[in-house]
Amino acid sequence: MSDPSGTTWDVIVAGGGNAGLCAAIEAAERGASVLILDVAPKAYRGGNSRHTRNFRCMHQGPLSVLTDSYDEDEYFDDLLRVTKGKTDEDLARMTIRMSEECLPWMEAHGVRFQPSLSGTLSLSRTNAFFLGGGKALVNAYYNTAEDLGVSVIYEANVTHIDIAEGRFSGLDVEIGGQTKRIKGKTLVLASGGFQANIDWLAEAWGPAARNFLIRGTPYNRGRVLRDMLDQGADSVGDPTQCHAVAIDGRAATFDAGIVTRLDCVPFSVVVNKNGERFYDEGEDVWPKRYAIWGRLVAGQPEQVGFAVIDSQAINDFMPSVFPPETADTIEGLAQKLGLPGNALKETIDAYNAACRPGTFEPNDLDGLSTEGLDPPKTNWARPITEPPYYGYMLKTGVTFTYLGLKVDRTSRVSTAAGKLENVWAAGEIMAGSILGEGYLAGFGMTIGTVFGRIAGQEAAAHVA
Ligand SMILES: Cc1cc2nc3c(=O)[nH]c(=O)nc-3n(C[C@H](O)[C@H](O)[C@H](O)COP(=O)(O)OP(=O)(O)OC[C@H]3O[C@@H](n4cnc5c(N)ncnc54)[C@H](O)[C@@H]3O)c2cc1C
Repeated sequence: MSDPSGTTWDVIVAGGGNAGLCAAIEAAERGASVLILDVAPKAYRGGNSRHTRNFRCMHQGPLSVLTDSYDEDEYFDDLLRVTKGKTDEDLARMTIRMSEECLPWMEAHGVRFQPSLSGTLSLSRTNAFFLGGGKALVNAYYNTAEDLGVSVIYEANVTHIDIAEGRFSGLDVEIGGQTKRIKGKTLVLASGGFQANIDWLAEAWGPAARNFLIRGTPYNRGRVLRDMLDQGADSVGDPTQCHAVAIDGRAATFDAGIVTRLDCVPFSVVVNKNGERFYDEGEDVWPKRYAIWGRLVAGQPEQVGFAVIDSQAINDFMPSVFPPETADTIEGLAQKLGLPGNALKETIDAYNAACRPGTFEPNDLDGLSTEGLDPPKTNWARPITEPPYYGYMLKTGVTFTYLGLKVDRTSRVSTAAGKLENVWAAGEIMAGSILGEGYLAGFGMTIGTVFGRIAGQEAAAHVA
């Protein structure tokens, strides 16, 4: 394309993941000239969105692949439970209500859905799964955007937003080793969280953050977020809050995606590097607990945990990409996992002795609880006695951070001096406006789609 700095764009979108693409499509459909700038190379376009699988959607009756109904109150109750009330009810309810019209909009813009697969956290009623995953969704949106005349520049690192007297006028972006200034009438910020910036994570978490793995893109480094915060943008969220799950400790530092998540925890005994248990593995069904285990492991020495199961449990969960370590004795398994053998044996023996007779039901809370064990295991407590034994190393896998820009119902960004006239934010960069803590599977894409669409509509209306 010709030099982007020679034009004053109607709408500039910083970040070409789900939220940025939804904004770009909405704005282009309203006749705006739109430029997407993304720091990633084309092959890695789509940020964290390309790793996703599903979208959580309210619906008052069967809708596309979604069965039955899932109404506003039930959805909001689910959100309240996971966030422990740390949400903005008005924004949350608006997001939930708008999710229903988003699903047909997504289909009309190229996204295809499929019924949920068995073993995918039992979500067939609440979450619509993307056929081909997030990568197919992102590719469909890029195709739609290109058909609408949206321009895209990859490997374009937005470094500074020019804001004066409450207005945006242009930004600095590094392209091909040079810093260019690009002018725009409006700006949509959709550049994700800062989870791939380990130094920033370490400011909040201390040295523990150096042992974290980042499940998604290495490009969400928070450059734009930091620049906006430095310029006094209103922020929301606590820098230590994030979505973090327990993933296979052998995963790559970035971009390992969904295949390294370990769903064996409820059927296992989890110990730290000293061979000691530290939390109730069977507290609740896995969809309601998987998102707390990243933080739990982060609180252990060297930020590692080890899940141990026996042959009875090996087929009770969706397998992850790496095979487990295996041995015929607990001591042998401890050696392979690098754990103290005596300590692990003592822990497993004490656990086995605390198990009580009952019926094991992998898909329900079966009440099969330990007795006299601290911490207890309150469901699926079946003795680990049938070799071969299997073990997985667990590490904290950060999905995305919650410290972000505070927005209103129109997705508008503000500072202490008031609302910025022509800057909106969507997706992970503002998700903390709704997610104070905790996470509801599929809600990241809901937030990005709802606020991306609003931001694109608002920006185009402002230009008009
Ligand atoms: C493994 C994994 C699985 C997930 N599964 C699901 C799921 O099934 N359902 C769900 O709802 N959520 C899921 N999520 C969360 C979901 O990915 C996010 O909530 C959502 O994709 C955020 O969209 P976004 O557009 O805000 O960010 P992104 O999709 O990450 O896009 C941000 C873009 O900004 C670009 N960028 C960053 N900095 C700059 C800069 N300085 N200049 C220019 N560009 C920049 C990045 O390259 C990136 O392309 C998952 C996340 C991961 C990591």
